Amino acid sequence: MKKIIQAIIPFWLGAKLRGAWQKFLGWFYKGNNYYCPLCQHSFRKMLPAGIKNEIFEKYHIIGGGYRLNALCPRCYSTDRDRLVFSYLKDFTHFLENQNKLLHIAPEGALRAYLSNSLKINYISGFKGADAFKGYYYQQHERHLDITHLPFENESFDVIICNHVLEHVSEDKSGMKELYRVLKPGGFAILQVPYAPELKLTIEDPSIQDPKLRLRKFGQKDHVRIYGQDYINRLQESGFSVELIYLYQKNPTYYDKIAINAEEPLFIARK
Ligand SMILES: [Zn+2]
Repeated sequence: MKKIIQAIIPFWLGAKLRGAWQKFLGWFYKGNNYYCPLCQHSFRKMLPAGIKNEIFEKYHIIGGGYRLNALCPRCYSTDRDRLVFSYLKDFTHFLENQNKLLHIAPEGALRAYLSNSLKINYISGFKGADAFKGYYYQQHERHLDITHLPFENESFDVIICNHVLEHVSEDKSGMKELYRVLKPGGFAILQVPYAPELKLTIEDPSIQDPKLRLRKFGQKDHVRIYGQDYINRLQESGFSVELIYLYQKNPTYYDKIAINAEEPLFIARK
């Protein structure tokens, strides 16, 4: 259905219609219970997001699956986008300084904010960009394979790679590449769905069938469920890793902007 609509409606018109629809939703859900720091509007409720699958509950996977109060009605930022953005805005000087940023698989609302910041030298892309002509990603996004990044060593001050590694079969190659292109003193925000009660990551490279992946990992395009050893994998790639629980620093405010109270930020430094 989506493909048929996209074939009939030109992209520019689709983008305009979607913009008008989001404005309407923003107006419809207007209120004082929630606030989105990305579009800077307030709402009586946020919308649900994510995929329902019992695997997410079974392993208590944080940051994945179906979430209530996750999606901003106006800019479509998710709880995960607002978590990353709030860290950058509230706990770093990233937005105030001249920085070179690599944003992998850029989320629309984060992309819009960061790419419009005059101080940020913004570069983005994702694998298979050529095949993606929807409204979520920009039309002319660059193709990037994180296991073979086309950048010089030590190119970026900051990298955002938000819920990508769980889709990558060769995740260790990806981590090493991210480390290679990061400048010394820089940091990467490397979010994944994370099962803190699992000692070891569940994965099986022989499982290629999307239906089996859905049953085993909770989503048809996920290739594993990360456990505690996710941190070891990042360390083995060269990073020093810090887990930051942003919510605990100001529960009242972070309730208002509707981030996941349980989700840690994985800050990987070089
Ligand atoms: Zn918003």
